[in-house]
Amino acid sequence: MTASITTAIEEAKQRARAAVDSAAGDLVRISREIHAHPELALEERHAVAQLLPFVRAQGFEVRHPAYGLETAFRGEWGHGPVTIAICAEYDALPGIGHACGHNLIATAGAGAAAALVRALDPSQARIVILGTPAEEGYGGKIHMIKAGAFDDADVAMMAHGAPADIAAAPMYGVAHVDVEYFGKAVHASVFPEHGVNALDAIVTAYQAIAQLRHHIRRDARLHGIITHGGDAANIIPHHTKGTFYVRSLKPWYLEQLKQRVKACFEAGALATGCEMKLDWHEDQEYAPMLSNGPLAEAYQRNGEELGKTFIELKDLSSGSSDMGNVSQVVPSIHPNFGVGSPTLTHTPEFTAVAATDAAHAAMLQTAAALAMTGVDVALEPGLIGRIKADFAARGRREA
Ligand SMILES: [Zn+2]
Ligand SMILES: [Zn+2]
Repeated sequence: MTASITTAIEEAKQRARAAVDSAAGDLVRISREIHAHPELALEERHAVAQLLPFVRAQGFEVRHPAYGLETAFRGEWGHGPVTIAICAEYDALPGIGHACGHNLIATAGAGAAAALVRALDPSQARIVILGTPAEEGYGGKIHMIKAGAFDDADVAMMAHGAPADIAAAPMYGVAHVDVEYFGKAVHASVFPEHGVNALDAIVTAYQAIAQLRHHIRRDARLHGIITHGGDAANIIPHHTKGTFYVRSLKPWYLEQLKQRVKACFEAGALATGCEMKLDWHEDQEYAPMLSNGPLAEAYQRNGEELGKTFIELKDLSSGSSDMGNVSQVVPSIHPNFGVGSPTLTHTPEFTAVAATDAAHAAMLQTAAALAMTGVDVALEPGLIGRIKADFAARGRREA
């Protein structure tokens, strides 16, 4: 890079940091407002109402509702050759509110988008802020991908509050399957020989899955529950139900595991003579996260410049996100950012943490790190080429 390009990038990053500082009051206020009014997947109307005036005030042209979802939106600014999409999630969890801290995701994303508008000239990039509902259920981004929300994006970024900073946290792909068995009810003592036992079928399937668990790759998970086991102890159960998750880091292995889990379900049907129904919810399957190497490295460099300390996970310990699906179609990152507490997400304790001053300081720092990464994408010669080459090589990394 020539000295003049380096200077231009540094100056743009300074403008990005200053923009986050000057928007800090608004961003923290919006985050607290979203946190205080938790809304479930696809009901996030109050959250969107908090975010849109801020996004519009930054100069974004806003489309809302968008992509067929009432609580999705798109804001667009600039006309440069690179399109940088930033995702803002804002849904909460049933019963425990913002225990995943999506109030912080929404404002880190909105803050980053605002900062890029101040940092860049409109001819240098196109900045797209996407309000992406329903991460905790339904898979809002999966729907938005199908509706074209990411078609023009060159990169997509978001950041998730967590116990620590991790630039490229692995996340499983996950398939959800519901199983039902249909047998024949009869008096359990008088005529058991005429019954077909649907509880035996699901117990046999559960046992087979529990045995399979010992023999799968370490980067995969199987877990599930029986949701209906019968109606009365003196009636042979004629109808039972269960729901199971199949998770894997590797898409090809997820497909293999699904077949092996299917065989476990079939074993239950075969052993008992029950009829079986499986529903794999194929259109809501979360793909594993493919963190883009050069993009994650740029984010980590910028985060470190702002004072972040990143850790590498030694053991795989992970959930899943519909950002995984985005990462399969656009070079993406989904870094975790430490919120100043070791508290684990999806606990009531994390709900409290997600509204602390420390969490908000981390959110602002993360907004700046995301914006500085966007500056690199727009202005650093060759970076977008390396990002795209890494994305093109993803098939090899998945093997
Ligand atoms: Zn969550
Ligand atoms: Zn989350």
